[in-house]
Amino acid sequence: IKRIGVLTSGGDAPGMNAAVRAVVRSGLQAGLEVYGVNNGFAGLHSGDIHKLDRYSVSDTINKGGTFLGSARFPDFKKVEVREQAIEQMRERGIEALIVVGGDGSYMGAKKLTEMGYPCIGVPGTIDNDIAGTNFTIGFDTALNVVMEAIDRLRDTCSSHNRISIVEVMGRHCGDLALWASIAGGAEFLVIPEADAWDEAKLLQQIQDGIAKGKKHAIVVITEHVTDVNALAKNIEGQTGLETRATVLGHIQRGGSPTCRDRVLASRMGDYAVQLLVEGQGGRCVGILANKLVHHDIIEALEEMVRPFDKELYDLSQRLF
Ligand code: ATP
Repeated sequence: IKRIGVLTSGGDAPGMNAAVRAVVRSGLQAGLEVYGVNNGFAGLHSGDIHKLDRYSVSDTINKGGTFLGSARFPDFKKVEVREQAIEQMRERGIEALIVVGGDGSYMGAKKLTEMGYPCIGVPGTIDNDIAGTNFTIGFDTALNVVMEAIDRLRDTCSSHNRISIVEVMGRHCGDLALWASIAGGAEFLVIPEADAWDEAKLLQQIQDGIAKGKKHAIVVITEHVTDVNALAKNIEGQTGLETRATVLGHIQRGGSPTCRDRVLASRMGDYAVQLLVEGQGGRCVGILANKLVHHDIIEALEEMVRPFDKELYDLSQRLF
């Protein structure tokens, strides 16, 4: 293999730049030429592809977002669009592609692999919702942002005897909420993996807390579970305590990556290159018990499921 491509796709995540930097630097070390694709699969289709040298990735390791750009490009689901994308790569003699992104991006990488064009998936998403890896790139940074937000909300909650609901991202994965609730010392946690959503039960738990003498409370909840503003109204109605909902939104996706995310991204980007050098394709990279691993990208998407960390969840319940 002589030439490889790299792109970032889906929602941006802090640490994506560190991953691309590692791909470029390790690729060059291994004697490869590395091409960067701008704006994800959209740029792959339009041919927005440029050769990168070691200086193309200078001063990027500390930056959030992705300097290559990312895009949502639903047209990539069409086979003829993917054929044109493969043609763009073949015209330039690029033999394999590293895709840094979430599960939607993995799907694109899987489809290209099934069409005979080898891809390697690197998990870049703050949601931590990818099978075959304990951690995704960007999760740790987002988690620290959420923790800091909870700390700040706690100050005002305890000063004013308020209840605060914090809605965090994660799509359908409760990891950000779970970890942040433990780190932030939240009183209540609602995540999709634990139980079916039961507003009456949560209200009862909050009432019980107040009966025991709690004067303020923080409720951490994963997005897409319920309308948090309506929930705030209902809690306020039942408890008589002023209740506010805060939707953290894209604040969670920005900012300089943490040390953990930079190192994880560097390891994973480097590992993806090693796999290509060894002649592997159609794999996705993960980290399990601090060891880099790789899985079949098709199997990872079709058969593997992310285990729910019940132990950590039980811990959160013991500490409330
Ligand atoms: P995040 O979870 O952080 O938002 P993601 O990678 O899951 O990231 P998506 O928007 O779901 O984000 O997917 C990114 C891109 O991957 C899509 O815009 C599309 O170009 C491509 N993609 C997604 N699903 C498919 C599919 N079924 N077939 C081909 N390409 C796909």
